[in-house]
Amino acid sequence: MQDKTRLLPGATAPIGELDGRMWGPLLRPGEERYENARRLYNGMIDRRPALIAQCSDTDDVVHCVNFARENGIPLSVRGGGHGVAGNALNDGGIVIDLSGMREIRIDGPGSRAVIGPGARWMDLDPVAMRHGLATTGGRVSSTGVAGFTLGGGAGWLMGQFGLACDNLRSAEVVTASGEVVRASDKEEPDLLWALRGGGGNFGAVTSFEMDLHPIGPTLSGLMMWPRSMAPEVLSAFRDVALDAPDELGLVFACVTTIDGSPAVTVTLCWTGDIGEGQKAIAPLRALGRPKTDNVRIMDYDQVQSMLDHTGVWGSRNYWRSGFIPDLSMEAMETILRDTERMPGRLSAIHLWCHHGAANRVPEEATAYPNRSYPFNLHIIGAWEDPATDAEGVGWTKGLWERMRPHFVDRAYVNFDNLGETDRVRSAYGPNLERLSSIKTRYDPDNMFRSNQNIAPRR
Ligand SMILES: Cc1cc2nc3c(=O)[nH]c(=O)nc-3n(C[C@H](O)[C@H](O)[C@H](O)COP(=O)(O)OP(=O)(O)OC[C@H]3O[C@@H](n4cnc5c(N)ncnc54)[C@H](O)[C@@H]3O)c2cc1C
Repeated sequence: MQDKTRLLPGATAPIGELDGRMWGPLLRPGEERYENARRLYNGMIDRRPALIAQCSDTDDVVHCVNFARENGIPLSVRGGGHGVAGNALNDGGIVIDLSGMREIRIDGPGSRAVIGPGARWMDLDPVAMRHGLATTGGRVSSTGVAGFTLGGGAGWLMGQFGLACDNLRSAEVVTASGEVVRASDKEEPDLLWALRGGGGNFGAVTSFEMDLHPIGPTLSGLMMWPRSMAPEVLSAFRDVALDAPDELGLVFACVTTIDGSPAVTVTLCWTGDIGEGQKAIAPLRALGRPKTDNVRIMDYDQVQSMLDHTGVWGSRNYWRSGFIPDLSMEAMETILRDTERMPGRLSAIHLWCHHGAANRVPEEATAYPNRSYPFNLHIIGAWEDPATDAEGVGWTKGLWERMRPHFVDRAYVNFDNLGETDRVRSAYGPNLERLSSIKTRYDPDNMFRSNQNIAPRR
């Protein structure tokens, strides 16, 4: 039994006061459910909050925010738990845990979805597909809609429909003052602008309304070649990517196969006419000799889970990324030189093609500004044995440093890392000043600071 008269460190009110108002449970250290609730995707995160508040509705969130503010207790917000930086948790404060709020509603004639803040893409995609609809989502289906969308959200459909944040139509937000506001084009439009890429800086989002688009059968799957063919595969990928029609989403990856051999892959999703799609990917097929080619007609919700085996919950992760404006021969050689040294079978180097609708949005039209770079290099250090942490982190940092001359000074908050707290200027570039003003309006005391933090004006 919890001692409800106990105070949290630094607090003046006992937790019983909060407990008496909440529908959802409050979990404290020492309880079995607490240990489960403090686990995130990244097994390297080992934070111990004083209280995990498993909210069941917006009122619960309001009570938590008010309690944290009135008692000066640090807070953090947890959606799907996939953020590798581990900012969903904190040490010694309150976690506003939204992971149980996973409801999905397809609205009216079916062109919008209303999504709970704990929903994963695996909750939305199959429901939307029943209506023949989809929106840009994460490429591993257990990823949370919330953190993904608030940070930008790059997925297979971004060439056609933009990033996830471009599809955010409105949101319900509990602000630092405990007020529930709706952000849309008409109400609090600055807040909506900030939520489209500005991360969890502006409050706890308790509901997301997103655009859905009609989608038919896709031509999707993976082609894999032996490492010996890497230079020609990467060149062909670059040429296809630079010329990619909006309907083509694709990624090049350096991976290790199940039998331990290094290999390279191109995974793709084509959403247009199937015959046209075959033409678009012909240069990749012309390379010949793939070890695997399972590109075939697939429904979009199948596409959304085709990389699920690559994301292992609880694995140890250290990630870095960078935008590449010009994928030169030297940049390609630097990437490929590292493939033989990848730490463990879960590690990978991904090169995502950013193009089409995602890159046609003007830089200052949403908080997310990285609109004109065709490639995002995502260095995924991932392994299972804690004894190899130093090796894994070292490999990731090493490749990132070697690639630095090829990057622009821009960062993507969704791929940021444990301990990387200094990337805000790079992440927001020309939008940082406006974001700071909006932060000052909605969170002047910086309660929502467990994130790539946008400081309020002093
Ligand atoms: C296996 C895997 C695959 C991925 N694939 C992609 C991909 O294809 N494309 C891509 O762009 N990214 C991808 N990501 C990155 C992903 O977008 C980020 O990790 C994102 O933060 C995950 O959101 P979440 O809700 O699951 O995470 P959480 O860890 O729960 O949240 C991350 C942060 O978001 C904020 N936040 C979360 N929910 C709320 C809320 N309701 N209100 C306010 N703030 C909130 C908080 O600051 C929190 O610390 C992937 C990550 C993983 C682990």
